[in-house]
Amino acid sequence: MRIKIFQDLIEEVHNPGICQQCGGCVSFCNSIEKDVIGFKEPNSPPEYLNKENCLECGICYFICPQTHILDEDLNKTYNFSDFSSMPLGYIEGIYSCQTNDNEFLKYGTDGGVVNSIINFLIERKMIEGAIVAKTKGAFSREAIIAKNRNDLITASGVKLDLTPQLDSVQKFHTYTSSLPQLRHYKFKKLALVGTPCQIYTIRCMQSLGIIPSQNIEICLGLFCYENFFFDELRVKKFENDFNLKFENIERINIKEDLIVKLKGKRGSQKIIHIPFKKLKEYMRPACNACADFTNIYADISFGGLGSPDNFTTVITRTKKGKEIFNKVVKTGVIKILDKFNEKGIKDKLVQLSQSKIKRAESYFGNKLIKGKISEVTSVIKEE
Ligand SMILES: Cc1cc2nc3c(=O)[nH]c(=O)nc-3n(C[C@H](O)[C@H](O)[C@H](O)COP(=O)(O)OP(=O)(O)OC[C@H]3O[C@@H](n4cnc5c(N)ncnc54)[C@H](O)[C@@H]3O)c2cc1C
Ligand code: SF4
Ligand code: SF4
Ligand code: SF4
Repeated sequence: MRIKIFQDLIEEVHNPGICQQCGGCVSFCNSIEKDVIGFKEPNSPPEYLNKENCLECGICYFICPQTHILDEDLNKTYNFSDFSSMPLGYIEGIYSCQTNDNEFLKYGTDGGVVNSIINFLIERKMIEGAIVAKTKGAFSREAIIAKNRNDLITASGVKLDLTPQLDSVQKFHTYTSSLPQLRHYKFKKLALVGTPCQIYTIRCMQSLGIIPSQNIEICLGLFCYENFFFDELRVKKFENDFNLKFENIERINIKEDLIVKLKGKRGSQKIIHIPFKKLKEYMRPACNACADFTNIYADISFGGLGSPDNFTTVITRTKKGKEIFNKVVKTGVIKILDKFNEKGIKDKLVQLSQSKIKRAESYFGNKLIKGKISEVTSVIKEE
């Protein structure tokens, strides 16, 4: 008998194709021993870099979002029971919001709310910065630590740089592995913007009280139905399938489908909506195995779904999340849409959440019980 280690993650998570590449294992491991594991290739699971240096502590196995070891602990902490009765997790409050800052609105994905809250927290010195993802191209982002307003604007959705997008060796993905940014130890108080799989991993680390998760002051969670990956072949197929050129994409957004806005004269730009069901071959395989749409373990969750254009749907979940939300509303940083339809928003969120849960259930067969994979329950390997 032995404690399961990274080798077991390779066998149980990487080999079946369900590694979400959240980077949590790499982030923790690098904080105790440098370069034991790491990412060698974009859009591939992490690998052993120096296997002989592995301390066999097993923490990487414990915190991986695909082993679900800590589900019960987290569910207690975050007032959640199971996906069948609570597909949206615990909701303290739900709103449709927009920033009052024209620049954050202009560069924002939806209502510019996430960046406005981060900027507020930085200006009030409640955090030193935030781990966000900077846009590099239409389907390409990289994780950075934003330390001020300018960094946040530079990282925002619509600014595309001139990275040669059709370079044959370049790969594109809408998912960014951001947790390894936690290696920047000089920052002691950070906000983390992340997808449900990333926030889950941080919450596991916090629940075990392990470094470097104590540096995360607040988790700002994005809704996430799925993420996409493009290599050269897929880029060509996508261009043919949807009759567009990658280089002509000005911005993308994801709500209940993929929304692609093409470059063109202001006001007359073409917008294409592509349903998720037509995007199966571009989806990261790991997303098949993921049941959380609305980021149930975040302090505050954000998404476009349920709100009108240029507004963000906001769900407050924890005491800390609620306090911050109240402050940004009270100080006029963001505004709540008058007479928003709370039930209408919830219905849309439940519908997409249930569709995501169903997809995960059919991927795992009947092994997914209450959001937990029944086969992967033990941290001990019998040998
Ligand atoms: C990969 C992905 C999938 C999504 N899927 C859905 C969906 O299916 N349905 C839905 O309704 N909403 C989805 N969203 C959320 C939605 O696109 C907006 O991010 C959300 O509504 C917040 O908008 P905002 O204008 O308030 O945020 P903004 O003020 O524009 O701020 C967004 C912040 O998020 C950061 N960021 C962007 N991408 C990442 C990333 N990958 N990792 C970490 N930080 C990041 C940006 O740098 C910025 O700081 C998704 C977002 C992402 C990134
Ligand atoms: S040292 Fe610990 S965290 Fe790092 S790979 Fe080995 S078992 Fe995993
Ligand atoms: S912790 Fe994240 S990156 Fe590491 S194996 Fe699990 S899903 Fe993959
Ligand atoms: S669908 Fe799940 S696994 Fe895929 S990026 Fe979103 S949260 Fe992560």
